[in-house]
This record gives sequence, C-alpha cells and structure tokens, in this order.
Amino acid sequence: MLATATVEKNAYDVALENFDLAANALELDDNVRAMIKYPERILSVSVPVRMDSGKTVRFEGYRVQHSTLRGPAKGGIRFHPNVTVDEVKALATWMTWKCAVVNIPFGGGKGGVTCNPKALSLGELERLSRRYASSILPLIGPEKDIPAPDVYTTPQIMAWIMDTYSMNKGYPVHGVVTGKPISLGGSLGRNEATGRGVFYTTECSCAHLGIPLKGARVVVQGFGNAGSIAANLFHSAGGKVLAVSDTRGCIFNARGLDIPAVIAFKERTGTVLGFPGAETIKPEELLALECEILVPAALENAVTGENAHTIHARIVAEAANGPVTPEADIVLVKNGVFLIPDILCNAGGVTVSYFEWVQDENHLFWDENDVNGRLEKVMKRAFGDVLKIHLDRKANMRLAANMLGIGRVAETSRVRGLYP
Ligand code: NAD
Repeated sequence: MLATATVEKNAYDVALENFDLAANALELDDNVRAMIKYPERILSVSVPVRMDSGKTVRFEGYRVQHSTLRGPAKGGIRFHPNVTVDEVKALATWMTWKCAVVNIPFGGGKGGVTCNPKALSLGELERLSRRYASSILPLIGPEKDIPAPDVYTTPQIMAWIMDTYSMNKGYPVHGVVTGKPISLGGSLGRNEATGRGVFYTTECSCAHLGIPLKGARVVVQGFGNAGSIAANLFHSAGGKVLAVSDTRGCIFNARGLDIPAVIAFKERTGTVLGFPGAETIKPEELLALECEILVPAALENAVTGENAHTIHARIVAEAANGPVTPEADIVLVKNGVFLIPDILCNAGGVTVSYFEWVQDENHLFWDENDVNGRLEKVMKRAFGDVLKIHLDRKANMRLAANMLGIGRVAETSRVRGLYP
C-alpha cells in the first residue's frame, strides 16, 4: 500500500502512513521512529488585519517545524482558503524528507494562513504578511527556520517578511527567508528552480525508460510557477506540449502549444483560457490525454482512485506536493506508469533556496549558469540515488524516495547520539 492525500484521509495521516511504510522497509527500530517521526514544534497564531473598509478581520495561521536534526527548518508559506494545521504538518514532514533526498543541510518546516489572497487588496495582503511574520517571529531566523514562497505567496511577500524581521532585529537579515526579489538578496535562478528540477528529473526518467525527449508529448495541469516553467523547458527541449490548464480552464492543440506565447498570453490576461489557436477541453479530458509525460503542477488530489485508470501517460512527474492519492498510486503502479515522486521531482525549489541562503550568509552572489549547473548536479544525483533503491530493493519510486530521505534523517539522528 502507498499513501498520499485523499478526501477521507487527511494529508497528515497520509504523511504518517508513508513514514511507516518506509520505516518498515528500512527496519527502523521504535526509538528512532519516536525521534524523527513527529513535528518538533507547532505554532498556531491569530492574525488580525485591518481591512481597507476599516474593519478588523482575524485570520488563522500556523508555522510547523517538523525537524531541525539535519539543519534549520526550511519550508514555504501557503496563503490559501483550505490551509489547515494538518495540511501544514504534512507539508512540513514532506519537507524534512525532501531536503534529505537532495542531501542539503536543512530540516523541514512549513507555514500557512487560511485566507483567500485573491480577494485581498495589495495593502491588505501586505498587512496580513507583516502581521503573520510578527506572530511567527520567535520561531524564524537564518539559523533556526527559513520560510520561502509556496502556493499564492510571492517574492514581494518574502520581501515584506524579511523587512518585518529586520525591523525587529535593528539590522538587515537577508537569510531569514528565501525566494526574495533579486534586489533584496534573492538568487538568480530561484524563480525557475522548481520547474528546472521537474525537467531534470523527467529527463533522467526518459533516459532510464528509453523515451526520447525530443518529440515527447507533454501535458501540464496547473500553469503557475512550477508548471509554466517546466512546460517551457520541455518545449525548448523539443517536446510537444499538447495541453496546459489553470483554475479557469484547459487548452489543447494536437500539434503542440507555443509555450512562450501561452506564457505571454497568461501574463496579459491572467489565464491560459482563450489562447488563440487552441481548443478548450475539460479538466478530466486533459488528465486522460495520451502522452509520454503528465505533470500535475497544481494542488493535492489531482489523480485519485476514481480517475487514475484514465491516465495514459508513461511518466507522471509530481511537480505539485501530494497530487496523486494512495488509491491512484496503486493503479498507476499496476498500469506500469513511472512516477517521479514529489519529494524528488519538485525539490529543485528548495535546492536553490539553499543556494540563496548560502549566498546571503556569505554576501557573495553567483551567476545564473553557476546556480543552474549546481542544481542540475544535485537533482541528477538525487534521481540516481532514488532509482538505485527502486531497482535494488524493488520498491516503487515513492517508497524508494521516502526510504532515501527517512534513512538519511535516521542516520543523522544516530550519529548525533539522539538514540542508542
Ligand atoms: P502557483 O500559485 O504559482 O500556481 C498554481 C497554478 O495552479 C495556478 O496557475 C492555478 O491557476 C493552478 N491551479 C490551481 N488549481 C487548479 C486546478 N484544479 N486545475 C488546474 N489548475 C489549477 O503555485 P506553484 O508555486 O506553481 O505551486 C504549485 C504546486 O507546486 C504546489 O503543490 C506547490 O506546493 C508545489 N511546489 C512549488 C514550489 C515552488 O518553488 N513554487 C516548490 C515545490 C513545490
């Protein structure tokens, strides 16, 4: 059995279940499990914000540090109406294993505010971000816990958080968040890093399976940061991106979409829907398209037990966190679909966040080729490490990635002497 988020099972239950599967395969003893399985700290905050109307509205927010065993906690902040403490705990847990899979010296954390940022004015969004930053101030810091963007949070929001933290300290602290604007100590290549990591791990998968990337048919669900950049890289490598989507709808062209033109169209109009030269299809039709590479790059629970049998892709590359449910995992494995699990596939973002933090701490900045070259090396090495476990232990790819990440955290715990 495999586990990811489902409607009946919340994301955190799934994270615990996935942990047990990997811990059993690794034969970890109970002392180690007790040390590494659960979040170290969970902070729940009340975030009152003065709205433009003059009324004060209270939002709920969280910051969870799952692990600081291998280094400071690291993980994004999500602003979304569906944020719950259990979702944040699950995402923080996955961050711990993800940082270990790419072997960077960070633990796992995550934050979130239950809100609809699309309904807020810029001023309201700034006040919300700053108030939330003040509330989690005791937990964060460059040596303790370093937030970054996640769904519906941006480099501008990171800049407000950095500024709020720095005002409290009395001096500028660039390394407190990553994913910042370049003018504020951000890293070249950070914005594209998640999509690049998706591309590199898919390139490795194609090589492993003997699928030529040139001419490969690609379908991307979710055309935000991760999805649009991955789509553009597949397009540049000679892939044929048949369809892409966002919350407003899905577009399709059997001859392949001109992705740079779709990006420009979305920048102008706010959606991919209505792109000239493409037909509109339904979300379920997009997922069922026959293709070599399907990239779910939106949110959790995109591929479920109900629609998994409709997937006709050779490779599913999880750009999003938790897009494939446990029931769907079983169906995909049975149908011979090669899965690149989220904690490997989308780890490019946190890898370049680590590079950004290193540059901030050293006050010395790298050029973009340097960043991309180092990222490629890290992602391809991590892919090779996971593939080796997949082949040697006959573990499916999700279990193999969890075994790698959890095994590394367990080993750190052992050498720190935190269990006998
Ligand atoms: P984003 O806000 O930039 O983009 C999300 C996109 O998904 C938007 O285009 C939105 O319209 C679309 N979308 C939402 N629901 C959809 C649906 N039901 N059908 C089709 N499209 C839908 O967010 P992002 O940063 O690209 O994050 C996307 C996923 O990638 C999330 O799961 C996130 O946790 C994960 N991720 C992002 C990063 C990063 O660095 N940005 C790193 C690791 C993981």
